Amino acid sequence: MYPAAFDYTVADSVDHAIDLLQRSGEGAKLLSGGQSLVPLMKLRLVQPTRVIDIGRVSGLSHVGEDGAAGLLRIGALATHAQLETSPVVREKLGLMAEAAGVIGDAQVRGWGTIGGALAEADPAGDWGPVVQALEGRVECAGPRGSRVVDAASFFIDAYTTVLADDELITEIQVPVPQAGSAGAYLKLERRAGDFAVASVAVQLELDDAGRCRNAGVALGAAGLTPIKVAMAEETLGGQSVEPEVVDAAARCVRDAASPLADVRGSSDYKRAVCGALFEKAVDVALRRHRGETVKGGHVR
Ligand SMILES: Cc1cc2nc3c(=O)[nH]c(=O)nc-3n(C[C@H](O)[C@H](O)[C@H](O)COP(=O)(O)OP(=O)(O)OC[C@H]3O[C@@H](n4cnc5c(N)ncnc54)[C@H](O)[C@@H]3O)c2cc1C
Repeated sequence: MYPAAFDYTVADSVDHAIDLLQRSGEGAKLLSGGQSLVPLMKLRLVQPTRVIDIGRVSGLSHVGEDGAAGLLRIGALATHAQLETSPVVREKLGLMAEAAGVIGDAQVRGWGTIGGALAEADPAGDWGPVVQALEGRVECAGPRGSRVVDAASFFIDAYTTVLADDELITEIQVPVPQAGSAGAYLKLERRAGDFAVASVAVQLELDDAGRCRNAGVALGAAGLTPIKVAMAEETLGGQSVEPEVVDAAARCVRDAASPLADVRGSSDYKRAVCGALFEKAVDVALRRHRGETVKGGHVR
């Protein structure tokens, strides 16, 4: 199907995009990689009166470490493929590279951007749980200036975020984990390239004795938004990661999950998947901390 008619404007800067958003009103949509917006427009599920193409705005595609701030700074237009292959991401935040590698197919990863994916706020999207587990933040720019929102409070509902109509995401900021940290992203999918049945992101900061100093735990496709499981984080924090502690944290994960039944499975099934993926993700993270090479990402 062809999209309904719309005006198309190329923004050449962040300020230009904000100005266009303000002047275009509610019917305007930003276009980054087009991997969510264009299919929705073709199905006429979304019918913007104006499409504002920000795909060529310079200064939004960076991926780099800001040593002074202890952050990885990721431009909103960084593609999934860029994050999958970036040496600094692979070295410092393997969890992000692992998640990027399981998004859609090669075309989706080549065009789709992290900013577009977070703004889309698909309940089964992969970036939401990852940035939540890593205590990431989302920088949003608008006519009133820039603000930085914790990933944990960025998502309001399915396909709905705190972004105002005249704001865009400009950067994602992720604290670089301490030495001794290890993580895993695990995603169950029905077939290659599909959205998750459920997914779990786990990042553990461990001391030499194997005690967990800090834990980040978040779920995807387990509710209307990504879910940061604070109770599981608290259960693991300050503890040796023994089986009974992992069992208790897994109970918190299953309790926090409130997945909707759909073609990918019943609510009970998905809740059980969340618990099982969590236990496996903790195991993968611990083995990686011991120096083993362990495969994460897809679970089939
Ligand atoms: C076949 C297929 C399989 C997929 N599989 C997965 C998957 O397994 N996991 C997954 O997570 N995703 C998946 N996706 C979605 C994919 O990750 C998209 O790339 C992503 O959701 C949107 O990124 P985009 O850059 O393409 O955004 P666009 O499609 O350009 O935009 C998406 C939405 O975000 C808004 N937007 C875009 N950029 C910004 C910005 N900087 N600030 C504010 N608003 C903005 C747009 O107005 C639009 O509403 C899949 C998509 C397809 C087509």
